[in-house]
Amino acid sequence: MDYNRLAEILFPHIDKTPEDYEAIYPPREEGKVITRLGPSPTGFIHLGNLYGAFVDERLAHQNGGTFYLRIEDTDDKRYVEGAVDTIINSLKFFGINFDEGAGCGPDSTDAGDYGPYYQSQRGPIYQAFAKRLVSEGKAYPCFLTEEELAEIRARQEANKMTTGIYGECAEKNRNLTCEEVEANIAAGKPYTIRLRSCGDGEHYICVDDGIRGDVSMPCNYQDVVILKANGIPTYHFAHVIDDHLMRTTHVVRGEEWLMSLPIHIELFKTLGFEPPVYCHTAVLMKLDDETGNKRKLSKRKDPELSLDYYRQEGYHPAAVKEYLLTILNSNFEEWRMANPDADINDFEFTTEKMSSAGALFDLNKLNDISKDVLLKIPADELADFMLEWAKEFKPKAAGALSDKEYLTKILNIGRDEAKPRKDLIYAKQIFDFISYFYDDYFVIEERIPEQVSDEDAREILKRYLETYDHSDDQPTWFEKIRTITADLGYAVKPKDYKKHPEEYKGSVAHVSTVIRIAVTGRSQSPDVWTIQQILGEDRVRARIQELIG
Ligand code: GLU
Repeated sequence: MDYNRLAEILFPHIDKTPEDYEAIYPPREEGKVITRLGPSPTGFIHLGNLYGAFVDERLAHQNGGTFYLRIEDTDDKRYVEGAVDTIINSLKFFGINFDEGAGCGPDSTDAGDYGPYYQSQRGPIYQAFAKRLVSEGKAYPCFLTEEELAEIRARQEANKMTTGIYGECAEKNRNLTCEEVEANIAAGKPYTIRLRSCGDGEHYICVDDGIRGDVSMPCNYQDVVILKANGIPTYHFAHVIDDHLMRTTHVVRGEEWLMSLPIHIELFKTLGFEPPVYCHTAVLMKLDDETGNKRKLSKRKDPELSLDYYRQEGYHPAAVKEYLLTILNSNFEEWRMANPDADINDFEFTTEKMSSAGALFDLNKLNDISKDVLLKIPADELADFMLEWAKEFKPKAAGALSDKEYLTKILNIGRDEAKPRKDLIYAKQIFDFISYFYDDYFVIEERIPEQVSDEDAREILKRYLETYDHSDDQPTWFEKIRTITADLGYAVKPKDYKKHPEEYKGSVAHVSTVIRIAVTGRSQSPDVWTIQQILGEDRVRARIQELIG
């Protein structure tokens, strides 16, 4: 069989050779870690992407290497306008920046010497390598029609065989003569290019996965498609060519790809390339609220899978990052305990410490971590963050929040104490938590305690207003409340009321609650005196007056 002739019949227009491309894309600096993110441009960017990107970013940047963005857009049905910017911006928000690749240059141009970074623009490259394989007898055109493929599949299923093109059903197309191929092409018959697999499915391949260690699997024996009938490569072929030519050293990707690893290893070998270090990350799981079982995060059921969720809710990127590291690396929490104030990037991230079993994602845990992370961010920085968030997601409140001095004081409440308050979790929650500081959002949300009659409530507030002096310090202020408490027949010590409920109407706690509700609209809040100092005298008086009325 004259395979060179076959290659010319199939790829007459391809004149560049693999050697030409090797020269265009020379090896990078020895010893540098080169990683990439290879998302498809569907516009949906999820936690799994962030999780993977985070590993990529750390591996490359810890080593002074390069992290690039390659768009895997061979499936053009799924292309969504603006998706590349979304990917870049979503990751940038979390502090993950690409050094190179699609849209990473100034004005969203592509940056780097290893492009094009869109697979859809790399057609001739894939074809040059496919042509070479054909000319070496390692790949061949396959004219099996949809119907024939369906028949083969049905037969294999009926015989409980693995489905696919291998063995007998591959024979005919493997052995077509050049004349037959020419005749088929002349007759306009569509064809794919398949790998002529050398595997027997019995020997094992052993791969040292960066996360999982030695992974041993039966070798590939299927004549997988490398170029589809429209000339576009399959994922298998495209990523092998790209990761080789872009000189990727580490491929971080989801566990769902582990199964096709034998195909990829065979492709690397057949093409004469050195495979990268594969790092197959664990699937992100969550505990299902209803069943209590672990399950995969789902796009349909779990809004928290989408990265947009964290931006809309206003999670601080530092919190999300801190949390992701706790699920990514088993020794991170220990490190954090020993180094509470260290920069997160000082933690030495290793793939070996990553779990290969499903990583459990838990929003409650993220919230806990977020409380601690926010405590370390100065209030004025948090104020900026809140304003940025509001501009995008709560524009009506942005005007109010732009008084930075006021907002900073609010956010600082209770943070300087020995045991600081941990009220702040994410922007949306924070806004709800502090909204009573803003007149437009101030509402009386709760009822006064049942121990206090309406008449007493009015009396409490009237006396409170009469004796109110904005310059009182905290103890003086509270002493006045105690006086009102005693005067109106309530216990000054809650203990006394508990012991002898028949002797009092209620206690100082109930009296304070009335005042708290008047000032904040709520029965729970940080220290009322502190709140009043921030609200200012006029607002305090107006609110008390309002409730009396
Ligand atoms: N395009 C693939 C995906 O979106 C990328 C897999 C890989 O990183 O190799 O899942």
